[in-house]
Amino acid sequence: MNTKKAQENLPESTPVYYSLILTRSYNIYIAYFAIFIICLVQMGYVKNCIPVLVWIAASCIARKNVNTIPIRWNLLFYVCISVGWITYFIYCYGWNCGGINFMMPLLLVSMFSIYDRLLNKIIFTIFLFFLRMALFFNCQLNAPVYSLNDEQMLIMQIVNTVLSFIIMVLVCITFSSNLQKAEKHLFLYNMELQQQAATDPLTTLYNRRRMEEILKNHITANPSENFSIAIGDIDFFKKVNDTYGHNCGDQVLTDLAKLFKEKTLGLGHVCRWGGEEFLFFFPGLNLDEASTLMDNIRLAISDLTIVYKDVSLHVTMTFGLEEYDYNSSPSEMVKHADDKLYYGKTHGRDTVIF
Ligand code: GH3
Ligand code: MG
Ligand code: MG
Repeated sequence: MNTKKAQENLPESTPVYYSLILTRSYNIYIAYFAIFIICLVQMGYVKNCIPVLVWIAASCIARKNVNTIPIRWNLLFYVCISVGWITYFIYCYGWNCGGINFMMPLLLVSMFSIYDRLLNKIIFTIFLFFLRMALFFNCQLNAPVYSLNDEQMLIMQIVNTVLSFIIMVLVCITFSSNLQKAEKHLFLYNMELQQQAATDPLTTLYNRRRMEEILKNHITANPSENFSIAIGDIDFFKKVNDTYGHNCGDQVLTDLAKLFKEKTLGLGHVCRWGGEEFLFFFPGLNLDEASTLMDNIRLAISDLTIVYKDVSLHVTMTFGLEEYDYNSSPSEMVKHADDKLYYGKTHGRDTVIF
């Protein structure tokens, strides 16, 4: 799926992290407006509290609906409340009271909306830039509606700076922790997928693809190190399936896989090469050492009692063993081992041919 199509298919509902960003921002906004009303009353501008009450009401309504409306509407409300407030504040109280500080959190909130296109974000940034310039030049040319004294301006500046800074920090923390969580989730999911791609689901052994990779990597990393491989095939396995059913055959495969894991632990790797064939890889072992080990495994197989429902059975396996000749590729080695296995099959089975 290309990015454009993916973008079109993105959900319209507001994601949790974004709801959290907006809710936290509105909380601070409401607290800020309340503090602002206190300041206005202290400064004697009681009538000026009415428009601030309108912003409180708007913020409360927008906050209440954050989780129920689509993300675009949420963003629109947030932009209207913020831009409206910044414009009103600077128009009434002038440039020096710090109202412009609220532009930064607004920019962040719009940027963190991952569902919006880059073009929209650029257009919005340009809009904010021109709004800022317009407000600035308006303040240069016209006096504010209410002239505050130096002390009052300082108080406003401090309130605006602190509260807008808190919103910015909250927005950044919420978004970054969401990003970290998403990244961790993705990492674990990726690990799980890799594990699944390398594992045979029935036996939980490595699959053929993973074993081919292991062999190739080993030869590349240790070109002068000796190693051996063995391919094994269950004798008369078809008979097990035909007599006791396919599920019983599966039980045989899983019990054998468990035995192989135990016997090769710390000595090498084993994979399910195909239906009822297994490939063993013993790094650092020569033919003699590997044949002793494989014979041990062969005896353990014939001693193993496999229980399925009320059936107990025994199976045997035939193996073909091959030592690295510092020249052959893994597939050539498997072919040689397979030829030996075939020889074993035609000469009595339940044996290790090397
Ligand atoms: P041989 O001693 O010559 O190897 O005889 P065989 O009967 O084992 O050989 P054959 O190749 O004729 O049969 C292999 C059987 O393995 C056939 C197939 O149904 C069975 N098989 C392959 N994969 C699975 C599996 O995942 N589960 C079960 N239950 N059987 C499987
Ligand atoms: Mg077979
Ligand atoms: Mg077989």
